Amino acid sequence: MSTVITRFPPSPTGYLHVGGARTALFNWLYARHTQGRFILRIEDTDAARSSQASIDAIFEALEWLGIDWDEGPYFQTQRLEIYREYIGRLLEAGQAYYCTCTPETLAEKRKQALAAGRPVGYDGTCRERCLPPSSDAVVRFKTPAAGTTALMDVVRGRIVFDNAEIGDFVIQRSDGIPTYNFAVVIDDLTMGVNTIIRGDDHVSNTPKQILIYQALGASLPTYGHVPMVLGQDRTRLSKRHGAMSVTAYRDMGYLPEALINYLVRLGWSHGDQEFFSVAELIEKFDLENLGKSAGVFDPEKLLALNFEHIQACDVADLAQRVRPFMVKEGYDVDAGPDLQKIVATLNRRSKTLADMARDAYFYFQETIAYDPAAAKKFLRPVVLDALRMLLGELQQLADFSEPGLEAAFKTVMDATGFKLGKIAQPVRVALTGKTASPGIFEIMDVLGPGRVLPRLARAIAFIENRAAAAGQK
Ligand code: GLU
Repeated sequence: MSTVITRFPPSPTGYLHVGGARTALFNWLYARHTQGRFILRIEDTDAARSSQASIDAIFEALEWLGIDWDEGPYFQTQRLEIYREYIGRLLEAGQAYYCTCTPETLAEKRKQALAAGRPVGYDGTCRERCLPPSSDAVVRFKTPAAGTTALMDVVRGRIVFDNAEIGDFVIQRSDGIPTYNFAVVIDDLTMGVNTIIRGDDHVSNTPKQILIYQALGASLPTYGHVPMVLGQDRTRLSKRHGAMSVTAYRDMGYLPEALINYLVRLGWSHGDQEFFSVAELIEKFDLENLGKSAGVFDPEKLLALNFEHIQACDVADLAQRVRPFMVKEGYDVDAGPDLQKIVATLNRRSKTLADMARDAYFYFQETIAYDPAAAKKFLRPVVLDALRMLLGELQQLADFSEPGLEAAFKTVMDATGFKLGKIAQPVRVALTGKTASPGIFEIMDVLGPGRVLPRLARAIAFIENRAAAAGQK
């Protein structure tokens, strides 16, 4: 088989949403899987709805996802000459014609046809009039009046359309701009695109596109129309189902590989496997296993998958990725403990990078604020002696790593008869202000004596003051 050439042709009328990203991924993965080529094309002929901001947002999202392209970006607005040339060819061959029916006339006829139960397609008024070009003339494609056009779809099988239902459709507007159905075919044809995977909202466009290929004597690409992504109420995914834009997930602290994994699985499967690295997806992605039924976007599942990808991520890499989130929290990251060591205490507990950054607060705050309930429950006179003894042990500790710390606790436990938790919880409150944190020895190791000893001393003073205040009453 010749080289697979796929494409992603977004219309820059907004950010890249998760549905669009999934389409891009399918095409990109298939090109990478087959060692083919992947083309990026910006379909910007709708001047009123296209914007540079949207183009930038699409590039930014693709870059974050790691979707790279071998050709492009092409811009349709820079290719108008090419479309005109092909329009000319069809006109010359008698496969297209100028039409000057006004929108009002067309609307009226459509109304009448609807009322009479006739097909609403163009009635062919200008079809044989051989009109010359004019500023108010559109160009229509001459669809065969009878017969059928068949789409062989790798996902949906064979779909047959009645040509009579399709009618003579517009391929160039009166302002000289081609319609989507025409530009897309000319682009795909001239760029050598031979595999098109896209949302099934385009199924009804496809017979028109096939007719244009046939009129130009060109061979058809392979089509795969995938069901649209749905929200949990099974309506088409929209803002009310949660965040829609790819970069919103970046900003919430998702890893691109988790979003990729999740989106690809919403419409493609490989047995029961749920977790895939990007390399694995490239290795395994095929068209045979694209799903016929619509995937339902479940933010909880995406979150669970992100959790797994965070755990699978190398600590040094994760440290780089979490850093901007920590900066956003206001931490002076370079002044804190070793970032990789911090991450190693949190990577099995964090569902997002934003969570991880938030939960790292105690590594960076100078003065820990005690949660009142935690202080009330654990910073009590009954542990005062034990904490004083522990502080003494820790001050003399040559080896401030986990085994050394454990030994210091053991000494205090043996002397006081307290169990580990009875000492560890007050220490945890002293170091973090809260009752839940990563393992006590882990965090002490990462914080180091420079942070642990003053915090412990402060908690001891806190208890002493509290005891003194109670005594005065
Ligand atoms: N610009 C179209 C869209 O964003 C492309 C459709 C296609 O893949 O042909 O829906």
